[in-house]
Amino acid sequence: MIGELGVIRADMSASSSLALPHIAKLHAYTPGIQPTEAGWVKLNTNECPYPPSPRVAEALRRELADEGAALRLYPNPKSSGLRAAVAALHARDHAALTAANVCIGNGSDDILNLLIRAYVSNDAAAGFTLPSYSLYPVLVEIQNGRTNVIEFDRSLRLPVDRITASTARAFFLTSPNAPTGVAFANADLERVLASYRGLLVVDEAYAPFATENAIPLLARYPNLVVVRTLSKAHALAGIRVGYALARYDIIEVLDRVRDSYNVNRLSQVAAIAAVGDVAYYDGIIGRVKATRDAFITECRDHRGWFTYPSQSNFIFTEPKNARGESGPAVSLAAYQFLVANKILIRHFPSHALTAPFLRISVGTDAEMRVLSETLDAWLKVPAPAP
Ligand SMILES: *Cc1c(COP(=O)(O)O)cnc(C)c1O
Repeated sequence: MIGELGVIRADMSASSSLALPHIAKLHAYTPGIQPTEAGWVKLNTNECPYPPSPRVAEALRRELADEGAALRLYPNPKSSGLRAAVAALHARDHAALTAANVCIGNGSDDILNLLIRAYVSNDAAAGFTLPSYSLYPVLVEIQNGRTNVIEFDRSLRLPVDRITASTARAFFLTSPNAPTGVAFANADLERVLASYRGLLVVDEAYAPFATENAIPLLARYPNLVVVRTLSKAHALAGIRVGYALARYDIIEVLDRVRDSYNVNRLSQVAAIAAVGDVAYYDGIIGRVKATRDAFITECRDHRGWFTYPSQSNFIFTEPKNARGESGPAVSLAAYQFLVANKILIRHFPSHALTAPFLRISVGTDAEMRVLSETLDAWLKVPAPAP
């Protein structure tokens, strides 16, 4: 038996070394922690603190009727009903949008992957900013593609000239940005679109919490793609639905490279139910924004912590300890104190701009109260001598 296991191990290492060189050295994306035991205040992955529309569970129950008999059948390959529902949802941003301008993905991560599969290679770079969503470089590496990185300075103003000068085939811009929460105005996006000749992909995962979005610009710019998700504002991270909005010819490219059944039956019916309940989501988005704005006031005005203006469902703040110091060691200490008290947030130590900060997802008012009390307790712990 031991000999057999040894043989299996040797085979496994031999077969993993057959992986392509760029895959052998690939660093996988690190998702935020999803604790399995109860009792955590979970403010680390920007999920919605409220449940999805009650229409979602109703639609799922209907789809599972007769002991789930419908599950014998493959789903609609194009998610056609959902494409139409998404186009209708965005009629308020862009009246001429139709189902032909929509591609549905298994989460918006699927859409981002399709865009990179179709537009990025070793001689067609993917551009993105730092910091921004850290999945982009991983998806590019999987395709053995080239990257073109543009660094922000602390002002977080959009480096329009450097983006337009970029030779990237496709440029991925997160707006509102992650993990900063800062949004870019349509006027700035238009300055990019006026001369950038590549594909501009605006990842709008957090746009439902913002004052403006890029969807109206689709009418005028054929090289613009807007990417959305139901994971954040729509409280459906577990369902995995995201989508691209673009001119029909870009949508046809994405349809050519996606899995033919990339979105399952349950996800399609759940998503159709969700996007149809605009009034419900206007309500919970309003609550999240009110909680966010109150917490920003607390960080800035009561604690004196530098905090970026947020147009998302999270807050990016630079904590100060009891001695008034800030920096990477201080934010790490705050992070660790919160974890020890079963509160999960995010800390991004790998970039100089993000290391002194904490990213805190907006929870319920009760969760934010627990967080505030725990931060007060942290400030009362005697700091170690410098
Ligand atoms: C959360 C997030 C996504 C991922 O969305 P899914 O639809 O859950 O895959 C994409 N982009 C950004 C910027 C995000 O924050």
